Amino acid sequence: MTQAHLTLADEFEPLLQMLALGGHEIKLERARQVYANRDLNLSEIEAIGFDMDYTLALYRQDALDALSVEKTLERLVQVKRYPPSILAIEPDPDFAIRGLVIDKEHGNILKIDSGRRVLKAFHGFKELGHLDRYDYTRESIRIAPARYHLIDTLFALPEAFLYAALIDHFEERQGGLPVSYLQLFDDIRFCIDLAHRDDSLKNAITADIDAYIHRDDRLAPTLHKFRSAGKKLFLMTNSGWAYTDRVMSHLLDGLMPEYASWRQYFDLIITAASKPTFFTGRHPFLTIDERGTVIGQATDRLERGAIYQGGNQSAFEALTGWASDRTLYIGDHIYGDILKSKKTSSWLTCMIIQEMVDELLHADTVREQLSRVRDLEGELHRLNEQLVYENHMLHRLQQVLNDRARGAQDHAPLGPNVLQELQIARQRLINNTDQMKRRRKQIVRHLVDLDREIESNFNPYWGLIFKTGNEHSVFASQVNLYADLYTSTVSNFLAYSPMQYFRAPRAFMPHEF
Ligand code: IMP
Ligand code: MG
Repeated sequence: MTQAHLTLADEFEPLLQMLALGGHEIKLERARQVYANRDLNLSEIEAIGFDMDYTLALYRQDALDALSVEKTLERLVQVKRYPPSILAIEPDPDFAIRGLVIDKEHGNILKIDSGRRVLKAFHGFKELGHLDRYDYTRESIRIAPARYHLIDTLFALPEAFLYAALIDHFEERQGGLPVSYLQLFDDIRFCIDLAHRDDSLKNAITADIDAYIHRDDRLAPTLHKFRSAGKKLFLMTNSGWAYTDRVMSHLLDGLMPEYASWRQYFDLIITAASKPTFFTGRHPFLTIDERGTVIGQATDRLERGAIYQGGNQSAFEALTGWASDRTLYIGDHIYGDILKSKKTSSWLTCMIIQEMVDELLHADTVREQLSRVRDLEGELHRLNEQLVYENHMLHRLQQVLNDRARGAQDHAPLGPNVLQELQIARQRLINNTDQMKRRRKQIVRHLVDLDREIESNFNPYWGLIFKTGNEHSVFASQVNLYADLYTSTVSNFLAYSPMQYFRAPRAFMPHEF
C-alpha cells in the first residue's frame, strides 16, 4: 500500500473541515471537551495509538446489550443445560453501568466508592437496605477475583444484568429455586466469552453493522488533522483482522478523497494484540495477509501498509523507534488499555468514556439541586460542629450544678444569682441543642430526597458512574489515577489544535480550601 502524500491543500483541509463541522467553537459544550487529569502537551506527542472497539468504533449500547444477552442465554441453555424458561428474559439496558462489582459469594451486585466501601447493593432486582448490607459496612472490600468481579468494560454490562436477572428468575419467579451464586457467575462468564470467541456476536454485528456501530463524520477529519500535524498514527486492537477490516471500513472508507482505504490513515495496524498481555508479554509481531494468513514475522521494523498480529510493547518500541514518553494511547478499557499501559510503560493515556454524554447532559438538568445539596451539606457540617461544642458545654454546666447540689466542699460557693443564671443558661442550651437536632434531622431528610431526585435523573438503579453518594466511585478514581486525558469520543479532538497543551485543573488538598 502506498503512503498517502500530504500536499499543502491537505495541510489546510483539517482546518477547513473543522470550521465546516462547527468544531471551532471556543466554548465547547461539556460533553465534547477533552479533560486532563495531568498536563499533557500534544505538540510533544510523536505517535498516537488507537484501540478500536468502543474507542474508534462506538457501539449502540442498547442493541449490543440485547444481542449479547440473547447469545449468552442461548449458550446457557445449549451448553450449560439451563432450563429453556430463561430464554424469556428480556434485556434491560438501564440495569448495568461500568464500575459495578459482582459479589459472587452472596449473589449481590455492588456500587462502591473510591475507598472500596459499598454504598449501593442489589440482589436480583431488589435493592438491599442498610441492614442487609451490614456485611459490607464494616470494612472496605478488596476486589480479589476469587470473590469479586469488576465490570470494567461496556462489553461486560450484560454480565451484570444477566447475573441479576437469573437470580431473580430462579429465586423470585421459579418459586425460590436454590442458586449457586459462584457457579452462576462462572456459567454466565463462560457463555458470553464463548459468544465472543465463536464469532456469533461478530457475525451478527457485521451482518447489520449500522444497527450496532455509529458512524461519526468527525472521525476521518480528526485523524487527518493529526496526520497533517506530523503525528504517526497506529491502530492496536484485540479484535482479529477480518472483524477489524469490516468495522474500520464502515467507520472510515469513502469519507475523504485523500484516503483510498481506511488503512491509509494509519502508519501501523496491529490486530489480535492480546492487551493487556501485549504490555508485559513476549509475543512476536506476525505479518498476515488480507485473508488473515500468517506470512512472516517482523524482526527489523514494522512497516506502513502491512498488517500485523500479536506483538509486545518492548518489541514495538525497538521496531518503531517511537519514544514511549511521546506516545499517546487512546482506549476505553480501564484495565487492558489504560492501567496496564500506564503501569508498564511511559505511554501517555487517554480514556474514551462514551457515557459522559448522557451523564453531563443530565448533570445540567440537576445543577440547581446539586447546588442546594452543597449548601445543605455545608449547613449540616457547621451544625454538627456546633452541636459537639454545645453538648460539651452542657455536660460541663451540668457537672457544676450537680456539684453545687451535692454541696461539694472543694468549690467556692456561688451566689444565688450566679446559680440562677447558670440554670437559665443550661435551659437555653438544652432548647438550642434540641432545635439544632430537629434542624439536623430535617436537613438529612432533605438530602436523602434530593439525592434520590438527582440520581433518578441518571441511571434509575445506580445513579452516576463517576459518583457514589458524595464520594468518587471506584471507576472515577481509576480514571483519575491512570488516564492522563479523558473524553467521550475520539472526534472531540477535532475542535482542538494538534499542538494543544491540555492543562489539568490545579489540585487542592482539603486544607487549602
Ligand atoms: P479492542 O477494544 O479493540 O481491543 O477489542 C476488544 C475485543 O475483545 C473485541 O473483539 C471483543 O469482541 C473482544 N471481547 C470483549 N469481551 C470479550 C470476552 O469476554 N471474551 C472474548 N473476547 C472479548
Ligand atoms: Mg476497546
